[in-house]
Amino acid sequence: MRYISTRGQAPELNFEEAMLTGLARDGGLYVPAEWPQMSADDIAALAGLPYEEVAFRVMKPFVDETFSDAEFREIIQRAYAGFDHAARCPMVQTGPNDWLLELHHGPTLAFKDVAMQLIGQMFETSLKRSGQRVTIVGATSGDTGSAAIEAFRGLSSVDVFILYPHGRVSEVQRRQMTTPVEDNVHALAVDGDFDTCQALVKDMFNDLEFRDRVRLAGVNSINWARVLAQAVYFFTAAVSLGAPARKVSFTVPTGNFGDIFAGYVAKRMGLPIDRLVIATNQNDILHRTLQSGAHEKEGVAPSISPSMDIQVSSNFERLLFDLYDREGSAIAQLMDELKENGQFTLSQGALDRLRAEFDSGRASEEETLAEIRLMAETTGHVICPHCAVGTKVAREAHGSAPMVTLATAHAAKFPDAVEQACGIRPDLPPRMADLYERPERLTRLPGELSALEKHIEGTL
Ligand SMILES: *Cc1c(COP(=O)(O)O)cnc(C)c1O
Repeated sequence: MRYISTRGQAPELNFEEAMLTGLARDGGLYVPAEWPQMSADDIAALAGLPYEEVAFRVMKPFVDETFSDAEFREIIQRAYAGFDHAARCPMVQTGPNDWLLELHHGPTLAFKDVAMQLIGQMFETSLKRSGQRVTIVGATSGDTGSAAIEAFRGLSSVDVFILYPHGRVSEVQRRQMTTPVEDNVHALAVDGDFDTCQALVKDMFNDLEFRDRVRLAGVNSINWARVLAQAVYFFTAAVSLGAPARKVSFTVPTGNFGDIFAGYVAKRMGLPIDRLVIATNQNDILHRTLQSGAHEKEGVAPSISPSMDIQVSSNFERLLFDLYDREGSAIAQLMDELKENGQFTLSQGALDRLRAEFDSGRASEEETLAEIRLMAETTGHVICPHCAVGTKVAREAHGSAPMVTLATAHAAKFPDAVEQACGIRPDLPPRMADLYERPERLTRLPGELSALEKHIEGTL
């Protein structure tokens, strides 16, 4: 499988290169040159298989020759061995035709683990083989950073630097990043919001000299391998509800558009998905885009679902690429407009296609709190604020197909908001119970490229 940039000006890469590179050198994102197809029979054959085997069958055509079958199966086994549920990503029913897809059974209690644990194992296998060492730099709104640190801590061929917005992540999220003791992991508290952090990482990748000097690698959701790993659970969920014979809909709490884009990938591969519903919090740029066709940045308003406090939704570029018939120059132009004017407007054709694939909705802060309470009262499930944004929007978007809402984090990651909403303070699982006692280690830095680059080079 070849990978091409959404902006059409970067070299084509194979899977291994795309995985290790992250952002393309023309500023674009790598996407597969075509969508491999799974037939109805292929999909039906997934029923009842272990998660790991479904993962192997769904991802193998994208990974191609990078790993042998045996190697790839081992990577997948190791990636999910630390999950605390045998189904890895189990479903629970919450209504007559409603399900939650629980994605928070990994080590840091959020869905980011599903991809990051896999990436950690793939990086290790690949770098050991070539004897290389890389520097991973990532930005986080909270959950990506902890998942990355957890996945890469102690690995010999990798240093990890995670930029998070100072004072804007939950205490559990921060402690998950600042308490690991391995000296190859570095938590950087940056003055600014998540978009600042993400822009700094992008600028670092676009500083080609620095990029080459430190052998920069990215694991943000701009990394294709992450999106790919997330496509798997759309298959396991849909098949458990009767796909391919029956269509299934998904509602996805959305920030950077990675998780929902993975659903789109599953659909492109042949999974019969009825509706893909984008659920946003008050930072609702994507919902507004679907309504008006104008993709317009506003300031980020901090919310009780901080992992979705995003206005620059990076993976949306991958979808735009398809909406514009894979014309790299058209995407480069839109992205220039966004950078210069803080907005662009979709062509009518692109907007029609977007609406043909996706629905959207938003939940305000009050609605999110009310939803947590409602779910606790009517189903007995205590859910996290991100998930609540999803179930609220799912209820409004419901059609006749079964509706699966992605439960993206464990409620105990956001105990204050959950307690405020429903009076129940969710406990951390026993394996993490001493998190609040472990000593923290972090470096506070200004949101300036030169200061960050200097710090990183000085630390290596
Ligand atoms: C990252 C995250 C999201 C948003 O996912 P995207 O792929 O960025 O759209 C939603 N919920 C939680 C808990 C997250 O950590």
